[in-house]
Amino acid sequence: MLDKYYREIENLLPNSVLVGDAVSDKYAVDWSAEDAHQPTIVVRPKRVEDVSALLAYCSANRLSVVTQGGLTGLSGGATPQQDEVALSLELLSGITDIDQQSMTLSALAGTPLAELQQAAQDAGFYLPLDLGARGSCTIGGNVATNAGGNQVLYYGMTRALVLGLTAVTADGTVVRSMNKMLKNNAGYDIKQLFIGSEGTLGVVTEVVLRLYPQAVSKKSALCAFSHFDDVVEFLQAMQRRLPKVTAFELMWSNYTERVYAMNPSYRDPFNKKHPLYVLIEAEGGDLERDSQLFDEVLADYLEQGGLVDAVIAQSHADAEKFWQLRDGVMSILANIKHRANFDVGVPVSVMSEFVQRVEQVLSETINDLKLCTFGHMADGNLHILAWTDSGGEADKAKAVAFIYQKVYEIVGDMDGTVTAEHGVGAMKRKYLHLCRSEEEIALMRLLKQAMDPKGILNPNRVL
Ligand SMILES: Cc1cc2nc3c(=O)[nH]c(=O)nc-3n(C[C@H](O)[C@H](O)[C@H](O)COP(=O)(O)OP(=O)(O)OC[C@H]3O[C@@H](n4cnc5c(N)ncnc54)[C@H](O)[C@@H]3O)c2cc1C
Repeated sequence: MLDKYYREIENLLPNSVLVGDAVSDKYAVDWSAEDAHQPTIVVRPKRVEDVSALLAYCSANRLSVVTQGGLTGLSGGATPQQDEVALSLELLSGITDIDQQSMTLSALAGTPLAELQQAAQDAGFYLPLDLGARGSCTIGGNVATNAGGNQVLYYGMTRALVLGLTAVTADGTVVRSMNKMLKNNAGYDIKQLFIGSEGTLGVVTEVVLRLYPQAVSKKSALCAFSHFDDVVEFLQAMQRRLPKVTAFELMWSNYTERVYAMNPSYRDPFNKKHPLYVLIEAEGGDLERDSQLFDEVLADYLEQGGLVDAVIAQSHADAEKFWQLRDGVMSILANIKHRANFDVGVPVSVMSEFVQRVEQVLSETINDLKLCTFGHMADGNLHILAWTDSGGEADKAKAVAFIYQKVYEIVGDMDGTVTAEHGVGAMKRKYLHLCRSEEEIALMRLLKQAMDPKGILNPNRVL
C-alpha cells in the first residue's frame, strides 16, 4: 500500500528514502526481538525541517509513522507495524552546542548516548545518563522513553537531565523549547509532554541536557547480605553517611549464579555463596578523604552485622569486573529464547514480599521454573527473567505468556508499575490498566487526541 506514496516522499525529501532491498533487517525490530516487521519505506531526514515536512505530508495523507532511534528499546515501540512509514533519526545526529558557563550540552536526537558522554567529558564535564545500550541508543530515544539506568538514585531519570528540547508534532509543527535554565516557570512545561511519551505525542529532534562537574573520586564495592531488610538499612545508612551514592544494584543469588555459570571466565570474589549481593558506587570531590570514608563506613557495617562480607574495588579494572556481573544479563538473554523479561517497579517496602510471591505463584503452575532477579533496587525497579526448560517450544512459549500475565497481576495488586524504565511500547499496552487508573488513562487518551487527532504517531503503542 505504501508503494504509491514512495515517489512523493522521495520528491519531498530527496536522497533520504530507502525502499526495497535498501531497507536492511535492522529497521524491522527493536531489541525485544518480538514481532519483527520489515518496513516498506524508511525515511532518514538530516534536518529538523525535513522531519516537519515528512510529518505534514503523512498527516495530510493519514499515513502512520513509527519513529526509530537506535532500536535498543525492549518494548516493541520502535518495531514497525503494517503500513507504517519508518522515520529513522540516525542521520539527524551531532552535537550542536556546549555552553561551558550554563553547563549544558545540546545535540540532535539521533546522536548516540556514548558520543554525548564523550563530548561532555572532553569539555571537562559529566553527563550522568548511562545505560548498557549507550553505544547504540540515541538521546532522542532516551528522552522519548525517559530512560533510567545505573545512576538514577542520585542524578534522576532522563527527565531530570533535560532542560529543553525541540519536537515536531503530528501535523509538522516545530515546537522549539531549547531552554537552558534550571528554572523556568512561565506557563506549562511543554517539554514534559514529549519526555517519556514514547513518540506518541511528537518526534523529539533536538535536546538540551544538564551537565554536572566531573567527580574526583569513585569508589565501588560488592557487598554480600543474608536478608533483604539488612540491604534496605544499609542503603539508607550509606546515603546518610556518604556524600553521593550514585549506584545501588541488588542481585539475588539466582541471578549471580546463572551469570557465573554462563561466563566461566568470571570469578566470584567471595569464598562462599550468599543470598543477596549489592554493587554500590559512591562519588566525591576528594580522592583521599572519600576513599578513607568509604572504607570506614563499610568496615563499621561489617562489624555491626547486617553486611556479611564486602570486596572493595582497588582499581578501575576491579570495578569493571563488578559491573560485568551486573551486566551479565546479556549472556542470559542471548541464550534463552523463550523467557519473560520484566522491568517492573514496586515500592521498596514490599519488594521482598513481591519477589517471594512471584516465585510462589509461578512455581505452583510452571514445572522447572527458572528465575533471575536483580535490579536498580533503590529506585524500586526490579528486573526479573523467568522461563522454563520443560516441554517443547510451544509449551515454553505458553509458559512465558502465563508468566507475563501472573507477574503483572501481582504488580498491580501491590501498587507497582508494569514498567519502571523500558516503557509500555506495543508489548505492555494490555497491562497498562493494572498500574494506571481509569482516570489516568482517560487523560492520556485526551492528550493523545488533542496532539495527534489523526492518530498517525506510533499508533498501537502505549495506549
Ligand atoms: C543492553 C541494554 C541495556 C539497557 N539498559 C537500560 C537501562 O538501564 N535503562 C533504561 O531505561 N533502558 C535500558 N535499555 C532500553 C533502551 O536502551 C532504552 O529504552 C533507550 O532509551 C532506547 O533508545 P533508542 O534510541 O534505542 O530508542 P528506540 O528503541 O529506537 O525507540 C524507543 C521508543 O522511543 C521512540 N523514539 C525513539 N526516538 C525518538 C524520538 N527522537 N522522538 C520521539 N520518539 C522516539 C520510539 O518510537 C520507541 O517508541 C537497555 C537496552 C539494552 C539493549
